[in-house]
Amino acid sequence: MKHLPRVLIVEDEPAIAELIQVNLKHGGFTPVLAYDSVAAQRELDAVLPDVILLDWMLPGQSGLSLARHWRRQERTRSIPILMLTARGDEPDKVAGLDAGADDYITKPFSTQELLARIRAVLRRRAPEAVSDSVSVGALVLDAATHRISYRGQDIKLGPTEFKLLNYLMKHSERVHSRSSLLDKVWGDHVFIEERTVDVHVKRLREALGAAGTMVETVRGAGYRLTGVAAKIPAAASAGS
Ligand code: CA
Repeated sequence: MKHLPRVLIVEDEPAIAELIQVNLKHGGFTPVLAYDSVAAQRELDAVLPDVILLDWMLPGQSGLSLARHWRRQERTRSIPILMLTARGDEPDKVAGLDAGADDYITKPFSTQELLARIRAVLRRRAPEAVSDSVSVGALVLDAATHRISYRGQDIKLGPTEFKLLNYLMKHSERVHSRSSLLDKVWGDHVFIEERTVDVHVKRLREALGAAGTMVETVRGAGYRLTGVAAKIPAAASAGS
C-alpha cells in the first residue's frame, strides 16, 4: 500500500479549509483539518504529518507564532511548513520564511499550484537518507564507510552513483521510474531532466563492472536492481 502523505491543514475559514481538503484528497494526500492553533497542536501531538499548510491569519495564536513554536520543538522541527498568506502581503512572506516556513502560497491559489508546492517541499525535505549497510546478491554497500564491494572486490563510485545505488539496493527487485528516482535520489533538484537519470545509470553500470547487469532497464517503465542474476555465479556452480 502506497503511503499517502499526511497534510495538516491549519485554516480557520471552513470554506477554504474544506476546499483544500477535497483537492488534497483527489491529489493523493491524506488531509487532516484543524481550525485553530489548539486543534492543530492536538493533531501534532497525536500523529506527525508529512507537511503542514498553515494559514497566516488565525484566531488566537497567529500562523507566524505557530511556525516559530514548531520550529523550536524537537518533535516538529523538520516538518515542512507551507504558509498561506493573503495577496500582496510581502512583509508577511518574509516574516513567514524567517519564522521557519519552507515556502508560502498566496491566496487565492489554484489547486495545481498548491499540489505542486506541497510536492516540492516534500521532495526538498525527504531525499533518501544515506545510512546502514545493504546487500543484494553478492553486491554489498556500506553507507557508513562509503564502501561498495562485489564478490569481495572494492568498487569505486562517484557521490551521485553511490546515492543511486544505495536507493536501488534498498528498494531492489522493484521498478523505479525516472521521475521517482529523481524525487528519491536527487531530492531537492526539482528541475533536473529525467535524461540525467539515464546518464548516471550508465556511469553506475560501467563502474559496477561485472555487477553492472544487475541494474536492469525495464522498457517504458524505468530501472530495477535485481539480485536474481547474481545468485548463481558460474565459478561457484562449476563444482556442484
Ligand atoms: Ca484565516
